[in-house]
Amino acid sequence: MVRGIRCPEDRWAWVEIDLDALRENTAAIKRLVARNVQMMCVVKADAYGHGAVQCAKAMRRAGADQFAVATVTEGVELRESGIREPIAILSEPPLETIQTIVDHDLAPAVYTQDFALSLGECAAAAGKVAPYHLAVDTGMTRIGVNWRDALELRRSIDFHRGIECAGTFTHFATADVLGDWDFEMQYRRFCEAVRSIDDSGLDTGLVHCGNTPATILHPEVHEDMVRAGIGLYGLHPAVETRRKVRLRPVMSVRGRITRVERPEVGTGVSYGLTYRVPKPNIQICTVPIGYADGLARSLSGNMDVLVNGERCRQVGRICMDQFMFAVAVNSVRAYRPTRAVERGDVVTILGYDGNEMISADDMAARRNTINYEVVCDFGLRLEKIYV
Ligand SMILES: *Cc1c(COP(=O)(O)O)cnc(C)c1O
Repeated sequence: MVRGIRCPEDRWAWVEIDLDALRENTAAIKRLVARNVQMMCVVKADAYGHGAVQCAKAMRRAGADQFAVATVTEGVELRESGIREPIAILSEPPLETIQTIVDHDLAPAVYTQDFALSLGECAAAAGKVAPYHLAVDTGMTRIGVNWRDALELRRSIDFHRGIECAGTFTHFATADVLGDWDFEMQYRRFCEAVRSIDDSGLDTGLVHCGNTPATILHPEVHEDMVRAGIGLYGLHPAVETRRKVRLRPVMSVRGRITRVERPEVGTGVSYGLTYRVPKPNIQICTVPIGYADGLARSLSGNMDVLVNGERCRQVGRICMDQFMFAVAVNSVRAYRPTRAVERGDVVTILGYDGNEMISADDMAARRNTINYEVVCDFGLRLEKIYV
């Protein structure tokens, strides 16, 4: 058993969530914004795989003013766990979910008249006023009303007493790039849309546009509220943000060795037998984590794991529920002999073990993706333990 690593006795593989790190990151990002700027913590996709309910509760104590999710179901989960802060839904949900939205006091993004008026009808029937956030498309071409039509949409829905604009927002496509012309253009268009609504005497609610990279790199766009996601989980959205704020990764992924073999030279390992034991005294160890747990199959033969503070090569194809790795045991007295491993030893797939560490960025680079996807994937099936 590795010192400093907490090992649940009743499971072979788990995701470890460091709530202290999460609180520190939340506070660190909150310190970047002025005191009158609110912080909306983005906990969509089960808090990027970290567990939305536990994370939201920890963030709440570290400075979160509001939360944001991607779907109605995610919002309902937070409400039912006792989260009372405002909860925004970051895109316009199906009309069929409006009753649920009203029942749970969720604040959806709005960008069609149809949705806005249906929401108003439903809220009015329940004797409520439903809050919403007007989504403005300023150039990302994903969600929202075109910035030129934002005021017109507001004018076509504002007569309704059942709805109330809690916020006006946009989302940047290139906030992680410094000095980017498209970013500046998006921000100009957003300001234009906000000003036109303001000038017409309508209430914009809280104006917000800053995701993590914009919050860290572009203080001039903080407005009334920032919407931080990835940074809360201790991951950087760009190399430039590393110099501006210290963040600590929240997620580690660990498993135990369930089987150890010392096969003959030439013995194949895993589907397709793509790896064959090349020399004597190689231990082939099995870990019960596979691509259904978020360990991408494309990493097969192209990743390391940590055992007893040392790196070992993963070998053979990663399976749905398990993978194998090799430990070269020096039977002859060597300068720095590698210790043989045993069934039950803890293996680190993501995170620290002693002085070694495997980061979500390392893994993302090997997978040709971004750290966001790496942590989301590990949220798929593994049980989480909160430390
Ligand atoms: C996901 C998301 C965010 C958070 O982005 P990060 O880069 O993780 O900070 C903010 N706003 C919207 C609309 C989003 O979809």
